[in-house]
Parts: sequence; C-alpha cells; structure tokens
Amino acid sequence: AAPMSKALLQVRDLRTHFETRAGTIKAVDGISFTLERGEILGLVGESGSGKSVTGFSLIGLLDAPGCIAGGSVLFDRQELVGLPQSEMRKLRGKRIAMIFQDPSSSLNPVHRIGKQIMEALGLHRGMTGSNARAEAKRLLDLVGIPDAARRLDAYPHELSGGQNQRVMIAIALAGQPELLVADEPTTALDVTIQAQILELLQSIRRQMGMALVLISHDLGVIAEACERVAVMYAGRIVEEAPVAQLFDAAAHPYTQGLIGALPPMDGPRRRLAAIPGGVPEPWAMPPGCGFAPRCQFRSAPCDAAIPGLMGLSDQHRAACIRVAPAAMPLERIPA
Ligand code: ADP
Ligand code: MG
Repeated sequence: AAPMSKALLQVRDLRTHFETRAGTIKAVDGISFTLERGEILGLVGESGSGKSVTGFSLIGLLDAPGCIAGGSVLFDRQELVGLPQSEMRKLRGKRIAMIFQDPSSSLNPVHRIGKQIMEALGLHRGMTGSNARAEAKRLLDLVGIPDAARRLDAYPHELSGGQNQRVMIAIALAGQPELLVADEPTTALDVTIQAQILELLQSIRRQMGMALVLISHDLGVIAEACERVAVMYAGRIVEEAPVAQLFDAAAHPYTQGLIGALPPMDGPRRRLAAIPGGVPEPWAMPPGCGFAPRCQFRSAPCDAAIPGLMGLSDQHRAACIRVAPAAMPLERIPA
C-alpha cells in the first residue's frame, strides 16, 4: 500500500452541492489539493467560483438544508467529511480556525474585545482569569495592536476596521490552530492596511508553523502572500502551481486572463474585469469546460466533456485540452 501522507490537509474530490428549487447547484464540484504543515496555499477566482463554500466545507460549517457533501477531507489523517457536528466542534476554532472578510459580522458589538479573546482562550485552552488576560494581551501584541493592555477593554466600535480584523486574527490564533482558513481577510480594507494584514498573516504563520489557506478574488493579494496557488472556476480547480510558475507559464486561458487583468505593479488595484463575460449560472453549467463560453480558444472538444487536471510538471497542473497532449495524466505522476 502507498505510505500514508504526512500532509496536514488532503482534499480529494470534494463536492458540495446544494439542492434548490432551481436545481442542483454544484458550488464545489470535485476539487483536490494537498497542504503540508506550515504551508500557505492561495485559492483565487472570481466571485461565485466556489471559494467560500470550499472554505466552509473544510471547517464543517455547512448545514444548509439540501447540502450534500462528497469526497474526502483528511485533516491530520482524520476524515472530516461526514464527521458528526459534535466532533467537528472540537476541532473548529482549536486545530482549524477561520477568519472572514467582515470582522463586524463575527465580533460581538456588546462585548469588550478582551472578553471575546479570553472566551476563545477558555474554550480552546481552558485558560481563565489573569492567565487568560495575560495571554489575550500577548495575542493583541502579536497581531500588532498598539497599547494592547488598554485595548483589551475597548469595544469593537472603538477600533478601526483594520484593527478589528487584527482582533479577529487574535481570536483565531487563540486555539493555536494548525490550519487557518482566511476568506477574503483583507477585501474590506484599504490597500495600505491590506498589505499590513497580509504581512501579519505571513509572519504569524512563520512563528507558529501554522498552515494557511488564503482565499481571495484578487490574484495580486495571492501572489504577494502565497507560495502555491490554486485557481478556481465554476466549482473546480482549473490550474494549480507555485506562484512563480503560474506567472511564468500559466497554462489555462482563465489563469492567463486573470494575470492579464492585474493592474500594473505601481498602479491602483481594481477588480478583475478584463475577461469578457461572467461565471456561468450554477444551475446552467455548460456540459463541457465551464470556461468555454468565455474562452477565445474554444473548440468542439471543449464542449464535449469537462477536462481533467493534467500535470505539466510535478507541481503544475491545469485542466484544459490545450495543455500539451503529451503531458502525463495526473494519476500517473509518481507521488
Ligand atoms: P465565492 O466565494 O468564490 O465568491 P461561493 O463559494 O460563495 O463563491 O459560492 C459558489 C456558488 O455557490 C455561488 O453560485 C453561490 O450562489 C452558490 N451557493 C453558496 N452557498 C449556497 C447555498 N447555501 N445554497 C445554494 N447555493 C449556494
Ligand atoms: Mg466568497
């Protein structure tokens, strides 16, 4: 038998579908990726491509009616798909944490931030009283909030958006997670603060040896912060590569479009807009490649079947029929 992977996270053919009156929405439709301990993976794609549903699926936060999960998510060799919520709650916040775009939706406006951090410390590490308070102060220091001791007594509305996002990060770190899923953590912030938060996430990851899945619609953000990137389109990963390789030799026309849509290095950030058309409606997916209707290289085979990921090198995969036919199918690449 193949040796057990030492990977922290091994996602195989993950599927998250929603049964709705409009039909089955295949929000995540068979994605696979691996994350080593301490590694940082970027998940990028336009709005609606399935990034957040992927993030929620990883932390077992999907209890929408009609939600069907399939495939496998191995976290430190433990299967999370189908894990009872009671078991999932033991992992979530402690070994796996998540932060979101909008801190105001996750922070409780009526409680002081110190109390909220101490609550997480109590829940995940059994800390109380002056121990918890000292650790909460240390965490606020760690996330770069000045005058941390005094700030513990502040309410969320007394802090800026960027500072509240730092508080959210402090709460996420309270359980000393091995994996942090950060879903658009800087999207609501202005560019300067955004860069500071990305820098913070990277430095904390190095200090704590934590793995990070960074989700963003902005390839610029991903390129700045990540070692490896997976590009999502219509619920699937269409390309995956180390960041440098992706920028050197993007193989999927969608990725090429994303790179082409990046603003110049010294210009202002703007939303991805250079690829004409939009993500197909989830209830009206084309039978073949989901990107075909927008693709300048579309040909008949694109509409016949959904192309699978092909290996271009041992770390670079792309799902496009134009990827050199000589490339080995993924399955045949030695692990
Ligand atoms: P992204 O984060 O990449 O912008 P999402 O993961 O939020 O995209 O959504 C992917 C698709 O799944 C979208 O078409 C969205 O409308 C759909 N979706 C997300 N959550 C639900 C749900 N609870 N019920 C039905 N459809 C959903
Ligand atoms: Mg999202």
